[in-house]
Amino acid sequence: MIIPHHMAGKTIAILGLGRSGLASCHALLKAGAECVVYDDHAPLEAVPEGAVARAPDDWDWGGLDALITSPGIPTTYPAPHPAIATARQNNVPIMSDIALAMGAGLKAKIIGITGTNGKSTTTSLVVHLLNHLGFDAVAGGNIGTPIMALDNLGADGFIVLELSSYQLDITPNLALDAGALLNITPDHLDRHGGWEGYVASKMRILDGLKDGATLLIGTDETCQAIAQKFPEKCQQIDPDIAPMTHLPPALQGAHNRINIACAIGLLAQCGITHNDWHDALKNFAGLPHRMEWLGQKHGIDFINDSKATNGVATAHALRSFPHIYWIAGGRMKADGLGDALHALDHVCRAFLIGESMDGFAVALEGKVPYERSGDLTRATQSAYQAARDADDRAATILLSPAAASFDQFASFEARGEAFRTAFHALMQDEPPQEAAHV
Ligand code: ADP
Repeated sequence: MIIPHHMAGKTIAILGLGRSGLASCHALLKAGAECVVYDDHAPLEAVPEGAVARAPDDWDWGGLDALITSPGIPTTYPAPHPAIATARQNNVPIMSDIALAMGAGLKAKIIGITGTNGKSTTTSLVVHLLNHLGFDAVAGGNIGTPIMALDNLGADGFIVLELSSYQLDITPNLALDAGALLNITPDHLDRHGGWEGYVASKMRILDGLKDGATLLIGTDETCQAIAQKFPEKCQQIDPDIAPMTHLPPALQGAHNRINIACAIGLLAQCGITHNDWHDALKNFAGLPHRMEWLGQKHGIDFINDSKATNGVATAHALRSFPHIYWIAGGRMKADGLGDALHALDHVCRAFLIGESMDGFAVALEGKVPYERSGDLTRATQSAYQAARDADDRAATILLSPAAASFDQFASFEARGEAFRTAFHALMQDEPPQEAAHV
């Protein structure tokens, strides 16, 4: 745990008691701070012992030294949370848990990774490569483990942070030894008041670099425009430095060449080079719900890419497999299927689910055959049946929704787990191929 000793004796309000809010609260209490906490949804009894649960209307605003807010809570768009607005009126500094950690005088080298897509993969790959070379390294931030819950590694260690646009907005004291901005495509525009606001949030990573540190930047148009504006601070990611062969399933596809090159480049920024990355890369297992191979039945692969919540991410997955029976849909993003519409060459048939079913059907009309499956279980069964009927042994059943999960699931993880369950149910209906041969 990182203990923010600089907060000893201060009074800190915590808004949002998710994983990061709770971790901040525990760390602040350990440091000797007073904590007043609130969450619109969590019961007020569910607070750490020693903290005071109280609604913001009853906070002593004049006595607060800071407000630590969860990145999920709007600070500006579509409208600031009332407690954020009151904090501004009372000049109470608003910050993220990452800002809290930055103030704690970390000794480890800090690497930060942002972008619309590929953050988690690249963050975990950087840690994997560092560990492979014998360095102490931990991943935190948007990837799931709150920064305050990480081991406070010494000067030889590395803290690798996945940074969302929301976190960048509320971390004014970010101090990175190396940073990366993988790509920028439209996402979360409602939370940023539109495209310009979203780009401006991502660009905050430039201000978060230590003196002399460089930002590795992607090759898309928006990233290139940023690189041209700040040439002294940016260096383009070079996909050619990524090995091409012996890559594990989790690192297939052109998009992962960018992620690999970015990870290798970040290590180089920290002075770590290596002659042959093949060995290190081949053992990378990847992350659940990102092009995750669930298994095979009758030669048909099942790939769980539930994390692909926008058209750009899905387009990459659609280009990574030859014969695709594609399950798509959920809560539609502003640009609908977006880039996925330009990546349909390998799609044999689409199986549409969720709120976006009709919208996606209209977009796919005349381009690929599709059916309205409605829910994920039915879509999985229909996709499998279609691949069997076609006797397609190069088939991949791919869940890559190009939409958010919240219409039918609590999260993209829950959606991915539902797909896993549907896959296992199919496995149970008939024994898997290997077992049938025994
Ligand atoms: P993030 O954490 O930014 O959401 P992930 O690594 O979890 O990114 O990957 C999310 C989705 O984005 C995956 O489904 C994957 O197919 C796609 N993806 C991964 N890397 C990239 C990239 N460099 N460019 C575009 N899409 C990518």
